[in-house]
Amino acid sequence: MTTETKINDCVIIGSGPAGYTAAIYAARAGMKPIIFTGIEPGGQLMITTDVENYPGYPKGIMGPQMMDDFKIQAERFGTEIIYEVISEVDFTSEIKKLKTESGKEILSHSVIIATGASAKWLGLETETKLMNKGVSACAVCDGFFFKGQEVIVVGAGDTAAEEATYLAKLCPKVHLLVRRDEMRASKIMQDRVNKTENIEIHWDTSTIEILGESEVTGAKVVNNKTGETSIINATGFFVAIGHKPNTSIFKGILDMDDLGYLITKPDSTKTNIEGVFASGDAQDRIYRQAVTAAGTGCMAALEAERLLSEKGII
Ligand code: NDP
Repeated sequence: MTTETKINDCVIIGSGPAGYTAAIYAARAGMKPIIFTGIEPGGQLMITTDVENYPGYPKGIMGPQMMDDFKIQAERFGTEIIYEVISEVDFTSEIKKLKTESGKEILSHSVIIATGASAKWLGLETETKLMNKGVSACAVCDGFFFKGQEVIVVGAGDTAAEEATYLAKLCPKVHLLVRRDEMRASKIMQDRVNKTENIEIHWDTSTIEILGESEVTGAKVVNNKTGETSIINATGFFVAIGHKPNTSIFKGILDMDDLGYLITKPDSTKTNIEGVFASGDAQDRIYRQAVTAAGTGCMAALEAERLLSEKGII
């Protein structure tokens, strides 16, 4: 293991809207931030198509393009971007220690967590077996491979609605499996689903198993009200049932709720440890939007700056 002796002012873990916004603010405040991008540089927006609800883009923008813009803006003010994963943290002393997956130890006066969230899976054995053989959690990444074929989407939130409408442009038929008799998705997204003729909603329907040996051929499903089982033929199976916060490395170190979201002080991004701030989807179980993530990233950088100036470090 190599330990750096330099003590940084601000290390940011994660490179979605929260991480980059924190970097823009920290860099402009002269804190020379370092971002560790994690395994998904750019975060969840890298696997989204049109972002229509981020202010400042009246015609919408592609998610990857938006993240590229965030990155360029952060770099413009001197942010250092390191394409590595932080695998361990030690917040026991005033100087925070972080270890990268390659074994390098980094020291910092402040840490901003912006590790975001990742897709959830159904937890079926057949889902693991057929992963990347027809099973996917990203229509935008993998939809193209199923052009002209029948597919299944599981979920009933905005993500499922978005994935189903996206796939409906490529596929003759999209089966949307909703486990209850209503969808959680916003009205506008539900309207889009309802207006799309080649999306068939299967209400009260859960997946028992995904079918296929080397490739997906369909799914065995059950109607949760009648108990009746049936088979839907499809070659693609897209899981869109929400996300879980990427906070496992902070377990036992930082306060988190029952779902793993980091707990911050009211009206603040301060965690239970001084000098460690949490922003974005890793601490927001309610809104989980790019714009709210950017907002809390900004708050975290301002709070880190305030702390370091109070201590006379910057
Ligand atoms: P959500 O948590 O909102 O929804 C998850 C959905 O998956 C729920 O409908 C849930 O069903 C269903 N689900 C969960 N577990 C299972 C399971 N085991 N089997 C079957 N279904 C299951 O997650 P989303 O990813 O959809 O959205 C997250 C946030 O991001 C939301 O705030 C959303 O508004 C936002 N978003 C906004 C978009 C936009 O504005 N363009 C696009 C995408 C997301 P149930 O309802 O029964 O609990």
